[in-house]
Amino acid sequence: MSHSRFVFLGVLLAGLVRLEDFCLAAEPQRPNIVFIFADDLTCQAISSYGEKRRLLQTPHMDRIAREGMRFDRCLVTNSICGPSRATILTGKYSHLNGFYNNSNGRFDGTQTTFPKLLRQVGYSTALIGKWHLVSDPTGFDHWHILPGQGVYYNPPMIRNGEKVDHTGYVTDLITDLSLDWLKQRDRSKPFLLMCQHKAPHREWAPALRHLGWDGDRKHPEPETLFDDFAGRSRAVLEHDMGLDRTFTDLDAKFRRPANLNELQLESWNKYYAPRNAEFRETAPTGKDLVRWRYNRYMHDYLACVKGVDESVGRLLEFLETEGLAENTLVVCSSDQGFFLGEHGWFDKRWIFEESVRTPLLVRWPKVVKPGGVENRIVSLMDFAETFLDVAGAEIPPDMQGRSLLPLLKNQAPDDWRTSLYYHYYEFPVPHHVRPHYGVVTDRYKLVHYYKPDIDEWELLDRERDPLEVRNFYDDPAYAQTVADLSDELARLRREVKETDPPPRSAYGNERFEGEATPESKKR
Ligand code: CA
Repeated sequence: MSHSRFVFLGVLLAGLVRLEDFCLAAEPQRPNIVFIFADDLTCQAISSYGEKRRLLQTPHMDRIAREGMRFDRCLVTNSICGPSRATILTGKYSHLNGFYNNSNGRFDGTQTTFPKLLRQVGYSTALIGKWHLVSDPTGFDHWHILPGQGVYYNPPMIRNGEKVDHTGYVTDLITDLSLDWLKQRDRSKPFLLMCQHKAPHREWAPALRHLGWDGDRKHPEPETLFDDFAGRSRAVLEHDMGLDRTFTDLDAKFRRPANLNELQLESWNKYYAPRNAEFRETAPTGKDLVRWRYNRYMHDYLACVKGVDESVGRLLEFLETEGLAENTLVVCSSDQGFFLGEHGWFDKRWIFEESVRTPLLVRWPKVVKPGGVENRIVSLMDFAETFLDVAGAEIPPDMQGRSLLPLLKNQAPDDWRTSLYYHYYEFPVPHHVRPHYGVVTDRYKLVHYYKPDIDEWELLDRERDPLEVRNFYDDPAYAQTVADLSDELARLRREVKETDPPPRSAYGNERFEGEATPESKKR
C-alpha cells in the first residue's frame, strides 16, 4: 500500500470512529426512574409543605423538594388505595381501567401500563412492596410484594410468585429489598424501581425504634377537630370515620398488631402498656376522649411517616454513592392524602382538600432546577405519561393524563388544565362515604352526592372558607358560579368518557341500597 493510500485509509477510519462517537453522543442517556410511593401519606405530615401545625420534620423528603420541585396541588381522581394505583399504572380513570374500589376490585393485568411500555423500550423494571391490586403484577422483570394490605411486622411477602418470610419492620424491609435489587440490577439498562410502602396506612404501626419519638407531646390540633357539620350535606353528617365514633381497639393500640415476635412484643408493650393503663385509670370521655385518641393517632401515624422518610434518605444516599443521582428521576408521592383530625376524621375518600390532594416531590438534577414550586393542578393520572415522556417512549393516545415534563422544565403550556374531574364509589363499608363526583378548580369544588336515597350538592369555596366547613350551593350570590361549574362538570364528564350510570359493581358491596349500615354500628 502506498503512503498516500495509507494516509487516506487512516483518515477514513478516524472519520468512522468520530462518526461512531457522534452517534453515541447523540443518543441521549435515558434517565433512571425511582418511584417512592407511600400509602395514605398526606401533605400535612411533610415539613416541606409548610403546614402550620408543624407536626413532623421530614428532612429526606424535604431534600427532594429543596433539590427539585414540590407540586402543591397534585390531586387524585378517586381517593382510595387500589383505584389510585390502577390509575397510576394505566394513566386512566377508574371507569376506564375497571378498578373502582377496594372491596371487589381486581386489576386486569392485560391492560397497557407504563412499566410494560418502559420495559419494551429497554428498561429493567422492578416493583417492591405494597401492590394491593389482587391480580399478580405484570410488566416487571422482578416483583416482591406484600399480599393484600400486608402486615407491619415480620411480613410474609411474595417474590415473583413464591411466598417468602421476612423478619423486621415492613418499611425497612421494603427499603432493603429495593436496595438489593438496585445493587444486582442489569447495569447495561436504565431502570424503573417502584418502591411502594405500606406505611403509614391504618393501623399506623410504627417501627419499634420510633415508639415514644414525640416525648408524649400534645400534638397541635386542627381547627376543625370538633366540626359540627352545620349546613352541610347529609352525606357528610353520616360519615363513619370519626375519632369520636369509629376508632377501634386496634387503632388505639389496646390490641396488638399482627405478627410481632416475643422480643418485639416486649418493646411494644414497654411503650404502650403504661400509657394504656393510664388511659384506663383516667377514663376520658367526650372531647377529652377525642383528644386522647387524636394524640395516640398522631404519635403512631407520624412515627410511620418517620420510617418512610428514613427510607427516602437511604435511597437518595444510594443514588449519590453510586453516582446515579444526576440522571435519576426521583418521584415521591402517595396514593391519596389523609385526614389528620380535620373535621374530626382519619381516612380519606372525600373530595375535600386533605384527601383529594396528595404529596408530589420530584428531583432530577440533570433537568429540574432546585427549589421549584408548582401550583398548577396535576394528578396521579399524569404519572404514566410523565415516565414514558422522560424515557423517550411513545405515549398511547388513550391515556388520560398529561406529561409533567414541561412543568418540570418550567415550560408549562398555556393550555394546562384548570379543573379536574373526581369520582368516588365505594359504599357503604368501610366508612360510609356516599358515592360522589365533582369538579375541582383552583378555588372551588362542586360536588354531587347521588347514591343511595340522596341527591344533594355542595359548593366549596377554598378562598373564603379554606377549612371547607361551609356549603355555598344554595347561596344566591353563588348562582353564577354554580352554573359555570355545572357546565364545566358536564364538559369534563364528556371529556373523560364517564360511564353513566356506573356499573352496580363499582360500589363494591353486594348489600347496598336500603341496607347501609355504618361500620361503627356493627361493633
Ligand atoms: Ca391509600
